[in-house]
Amino acid sequence: MEILHVTAECYPVAKAGGLGDVAGALPKYQNKIGHIAKLVMPMYRTKFLYQNDFDVVHKGDFSMGPYWFNYTIIKEQTNKLGFELYLVDINGLLDREEVYGYDDDSERFTAFQIAVVDWVARWQDKPDIVHVHDHHTGLIPFMMQQCYAYRHLSHIPTVLTIHNAQYQGWMDWDKANYFPAWDMLEWGKLDWQDRINPLASAVKCATRVTTVSYSYLDEMRSNANGLENLFEYERGKCTGILNGIDDIVWNPDTDTYIDDTFNTKNAALGKLANKKLLCEAFNLEVERPLFVFIGRLVHEKAADLLPQAIYDAVYHLEGKMSFLILGSGDPHVEWELANMNMPLAGYYNSKIGYNEKLSHQMYAAADFLLMPSRVEPCGLNQMYAMRYGTIPIVRNTGGLRDTVTDIGEHGGYGIIFNDAKVWDITYSINRALELYAQPKRMKAIRTKIMNLDNSWGNSAQQYINLYSSLQ
Ligand code: ADP
Repeated sequence: MEILHVTAECYPVAKAGGLGDVAGALPKYQNKIGHIAKLVMPMYRTKFLYQNDFDVVHKGDFSMGPYWFNYTIIKEQTNKLGFELYLVDINGLLDREEVYGYDDDSERFTAFQIAVVDWVARWQDKPDIVHVHDHHTGLIPFMMQQCYAYRHLSHIPTVLTIHNAQYQGWMDWDKANYFPAWDMLEWGKLDWQDRINPLASAVKCATRVTTVSYSYLDEMRSNANGLENLFEYERGKCTGILNGIDDIVWNPDTDTYIDDTFNTKNAALGKLANKKLLCEAFNLEVERPLFVFIGRLVHEKAADLLPQAIYDAVYHLEGKMSFLILGSGDPHVEWELANMNMPLAGYYNSKIGYNEKLSHQMYAAADFLLMPSRVEPCGLNQMYAMRYGTIPIVRNTGGLRDTVTDIGEHGGYGIIFNDAKVWDITYSINRALELYAQPKRMKAIRTKIMNLDNSWGNSAQQYINLYSSLQ
């Protein structure tokens, strides 16, 4: 089967979060099990572009409202990611260093989607499935069905995977003239509450919809940033397929980002060696248990609770632990976290920004990973942490619920709490300290979590089964 993935991110080309990780792994694992999975994404100006060689495979043009654009599709020459990687260049729109965050993101991603559909319309042998990811590619199913120039693509099944339903790509209706001539009677397929909503449109138009965990699928019917009724209505076409992790990239035994590689046999020593280096670099005491947080500093991740929870833990639990935070996002949370470096020196440190290498070092060195998320569609951090022998402390939501079992349960290996509240976090930190004081139990849990199989093998096959049901 031939699958075309369309996405805004893909590791290592450009990554802002979990979508990048998934897009960099899923096609690779689908190819491994005998299919042809390709991926197309915008040609941002990231390091990957300059460090690799590409061939031009197509040039085209399209109009978007009053503007005329040329686009170029280039293909990475060696398939080094384990699949055919195509990049779409549109001068003036996609030629930026960052993936998101520009005022004209609506124009950028609309143009990207038009270029992709226009290109696919010219393929001699069409793909068997077009698989779109999140709202940045959510207009594609609509365009393939309702834009007159592309209606000959309407027989190709489309699958939408929702990695995060909080972001929907809303646009005002004046942008409707951006889309290639389309059947205006079908405006309802773009609309949600009087705006164009690309995510809602994809849910309506895609042949099937998947979310990245079973629990998140359930939760979306009561918490989906305004789309709850839509998910309730369309529940028949929605399925939960848990994300996996790329166990080639995320392997403590071969990870080139970490100083001391390790595996289940020498995890205690290996983790300690990494912890020593990290604690030295961040002025933390190596003897104390190390708690880390890695992620976007946003409301969904409950990053706003971290400052108070850390203060309370350090003062009320008598500074028996160290904290290290890596993240970026809400400027106020960034400011608060950075301002704690001085008063809590020796117990706490933070690095504001995005740093792939440091994130690997933290997964390798830490004893515990904090994930108090209010919303967590799947969450990859907890799975990476476990692969590196770091015990997850997570809130009971979405994919965290599906991948972590509390130590209070038979065979449990993580710490779970129910409410996104400071007290629940500090209580869980206290439970972690009790666990840390039992080295034998710590060791057994560490071995267990490092051996869990959260790799893509199973999930990649589940997607294939879904595609097959649509042929
Ligand atoms: P989300 O996609 O909602 O941000 P996920 O848990 O699915 O959350 O994936 C987050 C990914 O982004 C992980 O690979 C994590 O290590 C990485 N990440 C998040 N913030 C940072 C950061 N500041 N520096 C490095 N990596 C980060």
